[in-house]
Amino acid sequence: MLLSDNIINIKNIGEERSKKLQKLGINTINDLIEYFPRDYDDRSNIIKIKDIQLNEVNTIKGKVICRPETTKIKNLSITKIKITDGDKFLDIVWFNQPYLKNTIKYKSEYIFTGKVIQKYGKNKMESPDYEIIDERELLSNGRIVPIYASTYKFPQKLFRSLINETINNIKEQITEFLPDEILKKHNLCSRKFAIENIHFPKDNDSFFLARRRLVFEELFLLQSKLLQIKGILENKECNIIIKDININPILNILPFNLTEAQNNVLKDIINDLKQNKAMNRLIQGDVGSGKTVIAQILSFISVNNGYQVAVMAPTDVLASQHFEGFKNIFDKLNIKCVFLSGNQKAKEKKENYTLIQSGEAKIIIGTHAIIQDKVIFKNLGVVITDEQHRFGVKQREILSKKGKNPHTLVMTATPIPRTLALILYGDLDISIIDKLPPGRQKIETIYVNSTYYNRLYDFIKKNANEKRQSYIICPMIDENEKLELKSVLSYTEQLKNEIFKNYSVECIHGKMKNVEKQNIMNKFYNGEIDILISTTVIEVGINVPNATIMIIENAERFGISQLHQLRGRVGRGSEKSYCILVSDSKNNQSKQRLNTMVKYSDGFILSEKDLEIRGTGDFFGTRQHGIPDMKIANLYKDIEILKEVQKSSIKLFKDDPMLIKENNKLLKEKIEQFFNILDNTVSL
Ligand code: ADP
Ligand code: MG
Repeated sequence: MLLSDNIINIKNIGEERSKKLQKLGINTINDLIEYFPRDYDDRSNIIKIKDIQLNEVNTIKGKVICRPETTKIKNLSITKIKITDGDKFLDIVWFNQPYLKNTIKYKSEYIFTGKVIQKYGKNKMESPDYEIIDERELLSNGRIVPIYASTYKFPQKLFRSLINETINNIKEQITEFLPDEILKKHNLCSRKFAIENIHFPKDNDSFFLARRRLVFEELFLLQSKLLQIKGILENKECNIIIKDININPILNILPFNLTEAQNNVLKDIINDLKQNKAMNRLIQGDVGSGKTVIAQILSFISVNNGYQVAVMAPTDVLASQHFEGFKNIFDKLNIKCVFLSGNQKAKEKKENYTLIQSGEAKIIIGTHAIIQDKVIFKNLGVVITDEQHRFGVKQREILSKKGKNPHTLVMTATPIPRTLALILYGDLDISIIDKLPPGRQKIETIYVNSTYYNRLYDFIKKNANEKRQSYIICPMIDENEKLELKSVLSYTEQLKNEIFKNYSVECIHGKMKNVEKQNIMNKFYNGEIDILISTTVIEVGINVPNATIMIIENAERFGISQLHQLRGRVGRGSEKSYCILVSDSKNNQSKQRLNTMVKYSDGFILSEKDLEIRGTGDFFGTRQHGIPDMKIANLYKDIEILKEVQKSSIKLFKDDPMLIKENNKLLKEKIEQFFNILDNTVSL
């Protein structure tokens, strides 16, 4: 049996069990031994019957002193035994498990773990987990017991014995791949010890040793893979010379003063530009915090020093919104902006290419169209990407390659936990805009059910009468879903022709052509549409300060990070704004999520709450960034280990960039097979 073999090769696994395991993502033997426990139950403390704690779970050892009896009362069957630990006696009962009558053996010794209650003055242990004591190793009792995430009716006991047997059978194949030096330096136990003890810890210390090793290993592989993809260690010397950093001309025409937070970020940027290496900076700032103006000022500096700027945004709508915003400012400064989009006519594109190549166009704003081969810059000095988590690393790199190590600024609104930021942006310097521009009012968030519709409609009408605009979001699980699209469209018709017949109503969705979307967004932006019904295409970056109501229907279908993004579309002007979450869901987690949205507005806090509600594995950021779920590491909590990992992996690649040294051979293979992250699915 090999680690790479299918689980069907394991003795007690047939078709049916193999299918169940596959549903848990377990296909090979290796998957099985790396299916780490979700939790543990410490049943190592076996107590005497006389020391039993009432109404608590106790672990006791005892001999069965009478034959099990099953009685039936109506639909309930009760199986009863009596045991002794040589000193005292205890009754044990199970409900509706009549087969136990033949399983539990008279005169045999068992370990039982279960809750003890008192009835009619007598102690009774109810429905305990039990395990016979014989020459075999104890797996479910009398020790620290693993608990596996197991849905599809795959009992814990079976899981334990399968994993235990499998580990025993392939023990010799669990080999070390981390170089000795790293093991020693970080006090890591061997891989074999770790795998054994993560499943069946000998004691607390062994468990912590095992976990530490496996977390280290997982983060190490992830970090190494990312280092490889990003080529972080390339020496990026900079040939771009920025001498003139007078920004007064642009500051003078801005309609507002920069906030202190914005000024601080600007200071960081100007400081970067003075170094003789390429800037590589991330601005993290909540939705509406005013990142765009920073991009504009940086663009101004670049152009003023004779260099072009490329600004890339993930969607057409967003890119053209930026184009309008930039033009507003740069027209006044006589600096030419050009817009590039895949939807432009060939002739228009060609004209633009000429303007870019000749250097006449100074600021080039667009979507992925900017990274096409045909786009040749005269002298690209600065590359800016907005809401960059939508871009693959590769795309960012292609854009950079269009200049000679240009300065790079990336902007994101996604609040990323500190650990994840370290992993993802280890090579980026981070600036945070932590305060919103002045005059913003808190967005009032209200959570209602569908009985409130009429009131909501009146509210929207009132808002429109006061010349303000509203969004209504209708989620679609899958933008390709024909049926759902149909229902959104017919809903729109209903709103348009009946409820809001005196108002201007439009619908925008993912199936529309870009030009159509563009058209509608422009109209909304110009105030020609009162009510915009949308699936989620408007999620990222849209800025219409006059929109003050955001209604999210079936709000339970969204995660916290999406809801936060959506809510950020309102409250962008000086008027009071509202976000109304409509949901009839009875699901506890959904209700909790929506209540959390009502209570908190800060993205960073929300990201932490999101983790609390959903637990580990799947949280803010990772999915969006294409980072696979971790098997054991907790990206929030394992920050100390991560710091060690980072130092260690950077050192490794510095010493041996291609990992060709003999000591690193196994590690290299492991990194290659580890995450099947396709380079362009990870976005950083
Ligand atoms: P985001 O960080 O989400 O990209 P934007 O850059 O779109 O935010 O800014 C949101 C809004 O705040 C815009 O309407 C912008 O003009 C305005 N804004 C930005 N900075 C300031 C400031 N210092 N004072 C007042 N308003 C500002
Ligand atoms: Mg923005």
